[in-house]
Amino acid sequence: MGYVVCTDSCGFEMTDYDVIVVGAGPAGSTTARRAAQAGLNVLLLDKEPFPRSKPCAGGIRFQVSELLDFDLSSVYQRKISGIAVFSPSGLRADCISEDRSMPGMTVMRNEFDYLLLQKAIEAGTTFMDSTEVIDIHETSNEISVTTLDGEVHTADYVVGADGINSNVAKQLKFYSGWKKDRASVALEAEVEVGEQKVREICGEPSGYDAELLLLYFGEFSHGYTWCFPKKTVLSVGACCRQDKVKNIRAGFMNWFTRFQKDYKFEGKIISERAARFPVKPAETLAKGRALLVGDAAGLVDAFTGEGIPEAIQSGILAAKALHMAVEKSNPLALWEYEQDCQSMILSELKVSQSNAKLFYRSLKNMETLCKFFKEDNYASQLIAKSIGGHLPQGVVKRKLTLHMMRVRPRQALSLYL
Ligand SMILES: Cc1cc2nc3c(=O)[nH]c(=O)nc-3n(C[C@H](O)[C@H](O)[C@H](O)COP(=O)(O)OP(=O)(O)OC[C@H]3O[C@@H](n4cnc5c(N)ncnc54)[C@H](O)[C@@H]3O)c2cc1C
Repeated sequence: MGYVVCTDSCGFEMTDYDVIVVGAGPAGSTTARRAAQAGLNVLLLDKEPFPRSKPCAGGIRFQVSELLDFDLSSVYQRKISGIAVFSPSGLRADCISEDRSMPGMTVMRNEFDYLLLQKAIEAGTTFMDSTEVIDIHETSNEISVTTLDGEVHTADYVVGADGINSNVAKQLKFYSGWKKDRASVALEAEVEVGEQKVREICGEPSGYDAELLLLYFGEFSHGYTWCFPKKTVLSVGACCRQDKVKNIRAGFMNWFTRFQKDYKFEGKIISERAARFPVKPAETLAKGRALLVGDAAGLVDAFTGEGIPEAIQSGILAAKALHMAVEKSNPLALWEYEQDCQSMILSELKVSQSNAKLFYRSLKNMETLCKFFKEDNYASQLIAKSIGGHLPQGVVKRKLTLHMMRVRPRQALSLYL
């Protein structure tokens, strides 16, 4: 079916929507919800039938609950009070906030993303799933989106929230794709072990009623393997910068075999999926009548691989700029989004990139820093605060560097040699 040209009372052509958002992950649903709440007429499209699953470890920083103004208790799987990092030699450092102010939770992505989508629909968004966007055409007055089944929808603005392989970004020439040194590959598997084993493996050693995220360093030069607790399932996996790894599955299986032996279990892998995530932001986030948010914009923490907080935050900032652009009938208002992202997201991601560069520089650096977190309480408290998102990364880095220079000057300097 083609589209019908509508005109207003003065005879000007009208678009079908103020905004079309392509992709209903955390970035797209948040953009759509906030834009609809601001009174905009929003269409949200996703190629998958919903609820859909997504390869992800499902670790959610505490900061996410602060960004979202609704209750997440219906989707939370485990309360997380900190992380345990394992050095290449197997040394374990627990970084747990002493006041147990909750650093985060784990979720199943199909449930979490579906909740965010329902909130967007409740706010007035029109949603179509199983609707793949294949073509986008921009003129000076509007932007049109063509779907696989031949429908054409028009809007004043389009938001690319369609993940790392963003069709919106490619069609509108933001970029042509993610090169290997700008992306990580990841493998995620779910293992059914039962509730008791989840607690045994990930529970706080003190017996406090919360679990830890386990991160293992050393298997890969620029990445890590992980074990995140869900109710009865463990999410295990591996990630590494794409240009630094040949066979992620082989590395993952090496680690997983050792891991099963260490914790004396033979869990059944119930799903296994590979995916990529970007580790450097796109050069441009706003262009003409379009914005990129979340993974499509490359907004992922290069050190940890987390992108859900950034997806949500960029969605909130995008909706603010879209509202202004619609009110002023001026696409130039979208530039505000780029500036907001610069000060609130990109500056943080830059710190994370430099942390990753230093930490992954050598196995020796990974060992030195993990040992420092194990032996120095002040350092492990800072890490616990940073993973919850309570402190900006720049502040954590500055405090940590100054502290290490003071108490372990030789080790601190050796990180740069
Ligand atoms: C293995 C793995 C583990 C991870 N673990 C964590 C973690 O523990 N914590 C964390 O914070 N982050 C994690 N991340 C990163 C996180 O998953 C992403 O940063 C986050 O999902 C980004 O959200 P998004 O909305 O931008 O994109 P996505 O969640 O990727 O959503 C994009 C949506 O766009 C749709 N789409 C794509 N193309 C089209 C099209 N042409 N037309 C219509 N729809 C389209 C897709 O179907 C999809 O629903 C992990 C990533 C991976 C790969």
